[in-house]
Amino acid sequence: MTSTIQQELLPLLKTHFGYDSFRPNQLEVMGDILSKKNVMAIMPTGGGKSLCFQLPALANEGTAVVVSPLIALMKDQVDALRANGVAAAYYNSSQPYEVQQEILRSLRQGELKLFYVAPESLYQFDSVFKDIHISLFAIDEAHCISSWGHDFRPAYTQLGTLKERFPNVPIMALTATADKTTQDDIVDQLSIPDADRHLASFDRPNLFLEVRPAQNRIKKIVDFLAQRPGESGIIYCLSRKNTEKIAERLCDSGFQAKAYHAGMTSEERSSVQEDFITDRIPIIVATIAFGMGIDKSNVRFVIHYNLPKNVEGYYQEIGRSGRDGLPAHALLFYSYGDVTLLRRFIADSDNAEVEYAKLERMQQFAEALSCRRIALLNYFGEPIYENCGNCDICKRPPKYFDGTLLTQKICSAVARLKENEAMGMVVDVLRGAQNAQVFDNGYQNVKTYGAVKEVSWLDLQQYVIQLLNQGILEINFREGSRIALTSSAKQVLFEGKQVRLAVLEKEKLKTKKEGKT
Ligand code: ADP
Ligand code: ZN
Repeated sequence: MTSTIQQELLPLLKTHFGYDSFRPNQLEVMGDILSKKNVMAIMPTGGGKSLCFQLPALANEGTAVVVSPLIALMKDQVDALRANGVAAAYYNSSQPYEVQQEILRSLRQGELKLFYVAPESLYQFDSVFKDIHISLFAIDEAHCISSWGHDFRPAYTQLGTLKERFPNVPIMALTATADKTTQDDIVDQLSIPDADRHLASFDRPNLFLEVRPAQNRIKKIVDFLAQRPGESGIIYCLSRKNTEKIAERLCDSGFQAKAYHAGMTSEERSSVQEDFITDRIPIIVATIAFGMGIDKSNVRFVIHYNLPKNVEGYYQEIGRSGRDGLPAHALLFYSYGDVTLLRRFIADSDNAEVEYAKLERMQQFAEALSCRRIALLNYFGEPIYENCGNCDICKRPPKYFDGTLLTQKICSAVARLKENEAMGMVVDVLRGAQNAQVFDNGYQNVKTYGAVKEVSWLDLQQYVIQLLNQGILEINFREGSRIALTSSAKQVLFEGKQVRLAVLEKEKLKTKKEGKT
């Protein structure tokens, strides 16, 4: 199957794009769409998502419709396609009337292999699309359809009826940033629950992952930089004021650093950006406004002065270092004060509940007692269980004990609660708590009720968090942060897979948020 598709597509790849081979997952994604299957492709930026729909568009009869949120991006892609002799066009509301009419005409005539359209303009094409032959719908930046993603766009919700209106046209959803929950939501929103999911690896093995307590951050940063003279890096912080303050402090300590934030004029910003890209200024202290679209391969470190508000943001930001594949360092400073601060920001947002849950997951990552890479990749749904050897925990592991039996009990409780309850209830049931919620649900009759009485509430919660970080359990944010089992949990329950848990350090826990008793 794959090999016939490969034989069909390889010549097109060569003729139109000049490439000789496929990147990971490209062929699988194309194969699905050519067999008229719905498909979701999750690939890191630069992974080659566009080709996944461009090539099938050429191989198929009819026109591929590409929905994309960024006009500049559409234009770039269409220009590039045309330069390669592919009939492509894009449509948006800002084009002159005559241009729009000409595009419509060629669309009606079936002259286009690819038609790019902004989600806002899509409704205008309802009747046209019924009249022409559409080979596929490609939904770029598909996470925008989910309020669980990090960039929800109301216009995307229109795409929810595409499947119903065009049941025979396969849909391809593409994104570079969607955690497991967002992935689930995308396929639901697009009504393509059957979609094959292809997840390219998000692993960046050359990034050393480290988390340190935030006390004396500035001094720690100065020491860090002193060991890396001349190296290029980004320091992210939350407030504009801090970017300036820190840049100044670093300059005072003899480093060349500049601040960057959205409060500066666009000239100031481009000039700082230019200084960084051309290596005139090695260190940028910035808000998260910095970095998008910056293609600089030799960024050797990314420091988070403050805790990012979710793991998606963290991953994206650290991903700006080490693009050349050489070692790079991702250093995160963690303080409970930042958590409180971020929680205050979130209180005003429309989607507060989700954002709280995601922040909590970020916090759990920062507190991880097992390999950080395992925690990070499992969050994105990538099942990896080998210790990476390139994170602070792998380098300086805590003391572990054989937690297999405890893990079996926890997983069994999660299963018996039908993966229907949040962490608090799982812990309550395991400890045999006698409260109304437990009794109302009849959980005192569950077989694992009271199975871990001897462990304190807070400790047990910490063990559950460890299992989240080890990818044995996962949280379903969409369903009230319910705890669910992963395939790894099933190995623990049924195939005797061993689990190591970290011995908890009592002093550390006391500073954590209050737990129940
Ligand atoms: P994404 O949308 O995933 O960020 P793009 O589709 O823009 O990535 O592709 C990134 C770059 O990789 C582009 O320059 C593209 O031409 C190139 N590319 C894509 N597929 C291949 C391939 N099979 N072989 C070589 N280069 C490729
Ligand atoms: Zn590790």
